[in-house]
Amino acid sequence: MSELTAGQRAALRSLPPVSGLLEHPKIVRFQSQVHPEYLSDTVRRAQERARTEILAGGSTSDHDLVDAVVAELALMVQAVPTVVNGTGVLVHTNLGRSPVSRDTAEAMSQAASHYLPLELDLGSGERGGRGREVELLMRALTGAENTLVVNNNAAAVSLTLAALTAGRKVIVSRGEAVEIGGGFRIPDVMRQSGAILSEVGTTNRSYVRDYEAAIDDETAALLKVHASNFSIIGFTAQPELRDLSDLAKRHNLYMIEDVGSGCLLDTTRYGLSHEPTLADSLAAGADVVTASGDKLLGGPQAGLIAGKASVVDMIRRHPMARAVRVDKTVQAGIGATLRHYLRGEAEDAIPIWWAMSRDLLWLRNRVETWIARIDAGGVSLRESQSVVGGGSLPGMTLPSAALAIETTASRPQELARRLRLGEPHVFPRIEDDVVLIDARSVLQDEDNLVVQAVRQLVS
Ligand SMILES: *Cc1c(COP(=O)(O)O)cnc(C)c1O
Repeated sequence: MSELTAGQRAALRSLPPVSGLLEHPKIVRFQSQVHPEYLSDTVRRAQERARTEILAGGSTSDHDLVDAVVAELALMVQAVPTVVNGTGVLVHTNLGRSPVSRDTAEAMSQAASHYLPLELDLGSGERGGRGREVELLMRALTGAENTLVVNNNAAAVSLTLAALTAGRKVIVSRGEAVEIGGGFRIPDVMRQSGAILSEVGTTNRSYVRDYEAAIDDETAALLKVHASNFSIIGFTAQPELRDLSDLAKRHNLYMIEDVGSGCLLDTTRYGLSHEPTLADSLAAGADVVTASGDKLLGGPQAGLIAGKASVVDMIRRHPMARAVRVDKTVQAGIGATLRHYLRGEAEDAIPIWWAMSRDLLWLRNRVETWIARIDAGGVSLRESQSVVGGGSLPGMTLPSAALAIETTASRPQELARRLRLGEPHVFPRIEDDVVLIDARSVLQDEDNLVVQAVRQLVS
């Protein structure tokens, strides 16, 4: 202890004892929610950290110590809260991508809290296939002979490449050997799966002949990756999938496409560009297509591997398939989401399609209704632009309406912070120094929440 300064010694002495901390009124509050053993452990560990910090030359007060313990306990006792998405970004990755439909949430909850014949045939009582319902739904909706559901699209691409192309060459256009999101870079994913990347063409233009020239005895597949989160505009060319599929067939190669968003409906009816659907890809001759479950499909996080029966079966038999397979809740959730498409009710039932299909007049009325109900100054209607987001339809916007909130008392950053931390939590967007709540990304049953949150802010 001789190297300690007088200040350090004083700081250590002034640290409250564990027993004292446990009696602090801010910490006592947690007694009803945390078993005494865990409560005192949490306090003791925080006290040890404070001690280590003082010994390392840092400073910490009683006050900091209590606040640190309270912050930790508060996070532990509370489930992650829900938030209202006022950002105008419909598939918002940082807000959990697509919320699922009510039926889907119900199906997931049922599957989670009950036994179910996951791998049994009800008639014979014998072992049956896992995921048969999704296979049949996907066949009806996309023409896929067979479908395998895995953890996410990253797993779908990795598994597909590992099963079909390990140790062999896969040809990709330079313009498509891209990074899709944090940690998902096509060249890295390919390397991890054991495939050997062969890049052809240039960043902006690639032709069928570029692929053809690169084919040799070592080649296993052609891979097409949908540029889902960026667009190259101007002097560009990428070959049609149909032409690449024909080339793959002539050379006995697999044609693999990563379509990304898992879109099943035509996005052009909302004035957006055409997002490739799984059915498009399969019809254009892809042997196997991969997609996410929680982007435009509108289901829980999952990856879909859909395509020719023999190819999907081969992927299913790969040892890694077991490591990335989905649990019963996701299996049930994907099934329930697909049934909305089967019934032709996706626009009404699936939140992401409900949001995309609202027209401008409806959105303006929605904001006018909020304004009337908030009944205070500082709020007005603004024109806005929503985006689909989450790695789909890059650069495309949907016209929208937003509630603008301006008060002379607070700056926009502060207003936004209060909305985020308020009860209910609302995530707005700040544009041109004005706080906006975009009516398109607010879910169907959340009008009361918006009115409540904004009323607290402006009145
Ligand atoms: C989003 C996306 C991925 C990654 O999907 P996850 O479900 O997030 O793993 C891969 N490829 C494309 C083309 C994508 O758009």
